Amino acid sequence: MFTERFANLTPYTPGEQPRDMKYVKLNTNENPYPPSPGITDFLKSMDIEQLRLYPDPSSLRLRKAIAGHYGVDAENVFTGNGSDEVLSFCYYAFFESSRGQLLFPEHTYSFYPVYAEYHGIDYFKVPLNRDFSINLEAFLEKETTTGVIFPNPNAPTGMGIGLREIDSFLSKFPKNRVVVIDEAYVDFGADSAVPLIRKYRNLLIVQTFSKSRSLAGARLGYAIGDGALIRALNTVKDSFNSYPVDVITQELGILAIKDTAHFEKTITAITAVRNEVSTALQNLGWEVLPSKSNFVFTRNDKVSGKKVYEWLKAEGILVRHFNHPGIEDFIRVTIGRKHDMKAFLDLIADYIQTDT
Ligand SMILES: *Cc1c(COP(=O)(O)O)cnc(C)c1O
Repeated sequence: MFTERFANLTPYTPGEQPRDMKYVKLNTNENPYPPSPGITDFLKSMDIEQLRLYPDPSSLRLRKAIAGHYGVDAENVFTGNGSDEVLSFCYYAFFESSRGQLLFPEHTYSFYPVYAEYHGIDYFKVPLNRDFSINLEAFLEKETTTGVIFPNPNAPTGMGIGLREIDSFLSKFPKNRVVVIDEAYVDFGADSAVPLIRKYRNLLIVQTFSKSRSLAGARLGYAIGDGALIRALNTVKDSFNSYPVDVITQELGILAIKDTAHFEKTITAITAVRNEVSTALQNLGWEVLPSKSNFVFTRNDKVSGKKVYEWLKAEGILVRHFNHPGIEDFIRVTIGRKHDMKAFLDLIADYIQTDT
């Protein structure tokens, strides 16, 4: 009954989403704060008649609002059903094995290899530097490639790459191959490469409302790049689903991107707690990679990442553990509210005492 390509699919495993909420959820990098208060008002007074009609297939008002925020034109913006969908469209439009392998970092967002399998694209995982940073120079060593994708900051390490390094990389990278930078976490302290899209027509930035704008449940992602790249994404979208962004979500996106005060307030709170948690973990003897995101990646050479993950879960706190050789000692901990992080740190302090 099933196709061979279906039989060979290995789907992405999302972080656990327990519905009974007995856990403190520090495992999927959701924002602990609610979205812009304007969204509550909108939803309470929304005209239900609006749902009778299909949404604007091109999300024009939303794209204009996003474009305004970044100082680009609406024709430089594409919107989709979460950045995951946008990423999948990128693979379809820009990457194919006949032009070489797709390159991405060895330890990175685990959806990248899944999309490669789904779209039948050969890929190569470029090892990280010894300090777990992304080695952009190594991406230039392949003679042929169909393109590059990496997050900045990287997940699950949380480490960022500076704009100057990205610029220098792009200046040496073939101009007829697309570089996708997945900036899902960039608002938490890394440098966005959006200012480089005019200089590099082969650069596409992918972003999401899920993390820094507290709208993971609404599914809204976007891409910013040269008009030709955006038109290509529209062609893929219109060959798949004309309406990936629904009527309600288009409005939520406009309200969220315009509320810079709420955005800045929540970002400031999260990054302050992140820095406090990083210092506290270090004081407890944990190594913490320098994070520019809303999570920390941390390990302690005296304890196993898997065991501490299981122990925290039994105690009611969910974090993420990746059973991948090279990073299996780490746990990834989303930055939540201050009291949740205190509960986490108290448990970690106990764990070391009981474990040693
Ligand atoms: C969370 C995340 C995404 C997906 O975001 P959605 O817009 O919710 O689909 C994409 N890339 C990375 C690196 C992420 O961590």
